[in-house]
Amino acid sequence: MEGVFVSDFIQPVKKRAKFSDRVYVFDTTLRDGEQTPGVCFSLEEKLEIARKLDELGVDVIEAGFPINSDDERETVKAIKGLGLSAKICGLARCVLQDVDACIKADVDRVHVFIATSDIHLKYKLRMDEAKALEQALATVEYVKKHGLECEFSCEDATRTPLGRLLRFYSGVESRGADFHNVPDTVGVMEPEAMFDLISALKAKLSKPVSIHCHNDFGLAVANTLAGVKAGGSQVHATINGIGERAGNASLEQTVAALIAMYGVKTGIKLEKLTEISKLVERASMIKLTPNFPIVGDNAFAHEAGIHVHGVMAKAESYEPLTPEMVGQRRRIVMGKHTGKHGVSAFTDEQIQSVVEKVRCLTINKKKISEDDIVAVVEGVLGSVNETEKVVNMDEMLIITGNKITPTASVQLTLRNVKRVAAGVGSGPVDAASKAIQAALGEEIKLLNYKLEAISGGTDSLCTVVVTLEDSEGRSATGMAVGADIVMSSVNALMEGLNRLYSKK
Ligand code: MN
Repeated sequence: MEGVFVSDFIQPVKKRAKFSDRVYVFDTTLRDGEQTPGVCFSLEEKLEIARKLDELGVDVIEAGFPINSDDERETVKAIKGLGLSAKICGLARCVLQDVDACIKADVDRVHVFIATSDIHLKYKLRMDEAKALEQALATVEYVKKHGLECEFSCEDATRTPLGRLLRFYSGVESRGADFHNVPDTVGVMEPEAMFDLISALKAKLSKPVSIHCHNDFGLAVANTLAGVKAGGSQVHATINGIGERAGNASLEQTVAALIAMYGVKTGIKLEKLTEISKLVERASMIKLTPNFPIVGDNAFAHEAGIHVHGVMAKAESYEPLTPEMVGQRRRIVMGKHTGKHGVSAFTDEQIQSVVEKVRCLTINKKKISEDDIVAVVEGVLGSVNETEKVVNMDEMLIITGNKITPTASVQLTLRNVKRVAAGVGSGPVDAASKAIQAALGEEIKLLNYKLEAISGGTDSLCTVVVTLEDSEGRSATGMAVGADIVMSSVNALMEGLNRLYSKK
């Protein structure tokens, strides 16, 4: 496959695997994903996520659990009302009212589940197997009587004896169930065991088998892939792998592996993955770790150094697929290992100076952000030396404390003219910024203000990076490092202002 540079050792594995011709992607970001502790999507967010999932090309969207509340049911109905290509699915226990709520929500598919493991039957349902089976059969019949697609799950299937699983799945198949979903509810499987389980089920069942994995041991994606290798033809997944506890199988990772490693057909447009990942990151307020595969900030980032030289010469030296394939971009990051190759756009003196400053920063600061680099490079390219300074701060007094309004007074020299002003603000930095602006007689917008402590402890150094914009739309960056967060902020502001004024 073009743009994919995976291992040749996969070839014999592909030959042994029992892949189905096409794998269907069932997204449960809006149902299992929303069950993530602390996550609650608004109606607008759910509609937007559903639209983007449809653009991405998922086959089924599990939109919610309609019996939960009238709100939830109406939300599922609103998603169905978008008229998307993806099938809309609602979750239901093996209780007829749950199915009725799904019917009212106008879904295409009802996903019914009942727990089948000893532990769930005994402590949660307080039911024996016969009773649970009777309810499962009655519910599936009820769904089919209403002309809807029915997907059936044995909850906690992976801690249920195989004989019992077969009694349930064969039973519901005889009553018309269309899909058999196998949930690893507690994330207790490993890939070979999943391969064997799905193979055993496939041997006895005729309807498609689906896999739903949780990530308690970090194996959700690996287990899902193993299930597909055994002939499973539908995968449950969530964007960014959000979901209960450690989450579900990440859709990005699962689908990228299916397509890039095994060449399996799905309906997914890989290049849309990054955009929807960012949307779900914002809506869920769960920030991805930078090293999150495929869609994380560092997934295609290279710290300037030996790897950058390799990547620049030939990208696949250090990349398994091209970033564009999954809607990402390659980023070259400067840090401790940065050499000349990473900054070859500058003159030799400038390179030397940038490298020295970045190295100097890394002594105090473990992680150098893009903003820091912008500040360093701006500093080197457009160095403001003391004699060229347009704005000089002569005096600054800042008062803050309990039950007083933060106040600042400043005396500065702008092009050799002394100016004095004062200002109040919501905090000391805000007050200082207001006073400086009053003295300059111009409104300067603070586009970006970032304060980072370099180490723990109240005596630690901090770095402040600011981006300023004047009334004519010119912008400049300033940076300062110091032990006093207020004065470091003021110094960063002053540096930014000098860059801004030297552009005028
Ligand atoms: Mn689940």
